[in-house]
Amino acid sequence: MSLLVVGSVAFDSIHTPTAERDRVLGGSAVYFSYAASYFTPVRLVGVVGEDWPQEHTEMLQARRVDTAGLQVKEGGKTFFWKGKYMPNMNDRETLEVELNVFGDFDPHVPEAFRDSRYVFLANGSPVVQAKVLDQMAQPALVVADTMDLWIQTQHEDLLKLLRRIDGLVINDSEARLLTEEENLVAAGMKIRQMGPRFVIVKKGEHGAMFFGEEAVYTLPAYPTAKVVDPTGAGDSFAGGMMGYIAAQDKHDEATLKRSLAYGTLVASFNVEDFSLERMQRIELDDLDQRLGWYREMLTIG
Ligand code: AMP
Repeated sequence: MSLLVVGSVAFDSIHTPTAERDRVLGGSAVYFSYAASYFTPVRLVGVVGEDWPQEHTEMLQARRVDTAGLQVKEGGKTFFWKGKYMPNMNDRETLEVELNVFGDFDPHVPEAFRDSRYVFLANGSPVVQAKVLDQMAQPALVVADTMDLWIQTQHEDLLKLLRRIDGLVINDSEARLLTEEENLVAAGMKIRQMGPRFVIVKKGEHGAMFFGEEAVYTLPAYPTAKVVDPTGAGDSFAGGMMGYIAAQDKHDEATLKRSLAYGTLVASFNVEDFSLERMQRIELDDLDQRLGWYREMLTIG
């Protein structure tokens, strides 16, 4: 079933304690699309500058990503983000951000995308996220991501958006910031009262917590000793999750739980190399094999 993502398309420069990469393919919508494409075709809405290589677009198209919503701004430059990871590979510092064409991104959802049943509003201003929703016909499920910047600078707009979405995916520190609750269980429950039917709080290497109408639970991260580059972990998690939901065309809580497991597993592969490189070397079978091990790990006999 149709899945739409709106978010950043970027060049990233990444510094980790042991390696560096300059201007690799990144952006929330790119990680999301690739991760979701194991399960379902994806419709992408974003913006790039004229420095964007056509081969990146072709690579996404080869993965069933419809790029009809990717605006190319003549004379503009693509969004650029430079980050540095601390030795624990969890905490990171933004060294540079050049918003470029993403700074005045006015998302236009192509007519042919407006009937999408599943919508993911990747990290972006809540005003821009709301503009996307205004263009959609009648989605079955809308899930959004957000970050500290919007919680601090566009608080009222974010609160309005929360009343219009079904699910929110948010980091632990951002959940605390949004609710002023130290306890994450209390924070997750409080966000549900702000509007979304379910909330997923991501805790990096410690997994994710789910807060729904019927259940509250924690899923651990898949244990991996090889973390090369955590960039895009959150977006590939969301992509795996939404891709699975769209492929099933169901969003009851049992389906959501399996979708969280797939999200966890796609993210576990994604962090094993830079940019999309690890995801580019796996297939759905590899995810299913890891799902078998993950299920075994979670079963207490
Ligand atoms: P994640 O590691 O899942 O939080 O996502 C990292 C990706 O988000 C990188 O590829 C960046 O290009 C992108 N990114 C970083 N900052 C922003 C921002 N302010 N808005 C949108 N995307 C961003």
